[in-house]
Amino acid sequence: MRTVADPDAPAGLHVDEARLWSRLMDLAEIGATARGGVCRLALTETDIEARQLLIGWARDLGLAVFTDEISNLFFRLEGRDRNAPPVMTGSHIDSQPTGGKFDGAYGVLAGFEAVQSLQAAGITPEVPVEIVVWLNEEGSRFSPGMMGSEAFTGRRPVDEILAVTDAEGVSTETALAAVRARFAGLPELPLQRPVSAYVEAHIEQGPVLEERGYPVGAVTGMQGSRRFRVRLTGAEAHAGTEPMATRRDALFAANDVIRSLRDHFAGFDDRMKFTVGLFEVAPNVPSVVPASVLFSIDLRHPDQSVLTAAGDAIADLCQRHARLCSAEVRELANAESLVFPDWLVDLVSEAAAELSIPCLRLLSLAGHDARQLHYHCPSVMLFVPCHKGISHNEAESCTPGDLANGARVLANVLARLSASPLALPERTEAPPGSNAKK
Ligand SMILES: [Zn+2]
Repeated sequence: MRTVADPDAPAGLHVDEARLWSRLMDLAEIGATARGGVCRLALTETDIEARQLLIGWARDLGLAVFTDEISNLFFRLEGRDRNAPPVMTGSHIDSQPTGGKFDGAYGVLAGFEAVQSLQAAGITPEVPVEIVVWLNEEGSRFSPGMMGSEAFTGRRPVDEILAVTDAEGVSTETALAAVRARFAGLPELPLQRPVSAYVEAHIEQGPVLEERGYPVGAVTGMQGSRRFRVRLTGAEAHAGTEPMATRRDALFAANDVIRSLRDHFAGFDDRMKFTVGLFEVAPNVPSVVPASVLFSIDLRHPDQSVLTAAGDAIADLCQRHARLCSAEVRELANAESLVFPDWLVDLVSEAAAELSIPCLRLLSLAGHDARQLHYHCPSVMLFVPCHKGISHNEAESCTPGDLANGARVLANVLARLSASPLALPERTEAPPGSNAKK
């Protein structure tokens, strides 16, 4: 029996580029859109069909299949020590309504390819290796997303998740019950069980790796974000008779408020990202002075102290520039910027070096399930390039060669992490006042 220490059998050398690509294309057929993308919303028939496909593949590889009460899926390669907390890898298979083939799916299928490579290398891990499929990362049907990883890590109460409804008024609880009934035969594992380490492979969703010519990135941490809703309330009035000076025009107020916010955030470094992506005006008719505006703020910066200070200034700026209207600011989500453990980022770089695959250290500018796992066990991510950084888009595109290189590095990382039980380090404490939302 070879062991992971055997330099003649690095698991990554057994990755099969064509097999990985063909699994990705097979999965992409479930929920395929006319324009080459994928629409696979959480807890729908397409989600169920995709789960069935994965379960079939996992059984073909001899992996044990488990689920949990929030319908995350786990495919386990047993270790010599069956009781040791597993090393986990994976991501999600739900998508945006006009999503691409690779976001999330790559992390799950790179996991399959890496595990199959461990098997091909004759490696029996000391510690079990599990491929995980997290429920509803995207949050397109039930918002906010990351439900599976938040429930698993205890970062968000299950009751709160079950109460979330979709646009049709269907609750997560109802949709989840239907999915669980379809997979009633699967054994369940408890939420919040210990995990030795979590490694998530994902497409970068940014242009850095492609522009700089790196096939693989070792992710050093994750940019945080704060999300707000601002409501400005004025009064409806006749567009012809109400004097300009006494109008409580919510749209003009919103214009001033957004301008002041934009000027304020332009004073930070260029890593500050300020977006107003949602804007609703009421009553939204041509001859009535607008009485109400609701808009969103999405604020991001990789430095947590900068993000905190910048976000804390929003309410005051809104009040000061609201003219004769009242301003109400609600914070919906506050996901702190975080740094993955150095030793684990180093391990990704070293695994790439073993395979002579160039690897760049970079920050994740998007949120992923690894954000939640970071507070549960040592966690890290591995990125592969996607063309022009285009993602959350049917045009999302990756090359088979890059995807295979990512899976090779992942296989070597998993081989190392599962070769001996890790001394479980202390959990990373979440800063007070933050929550887990995406
Ligand atoms: Zn994703």
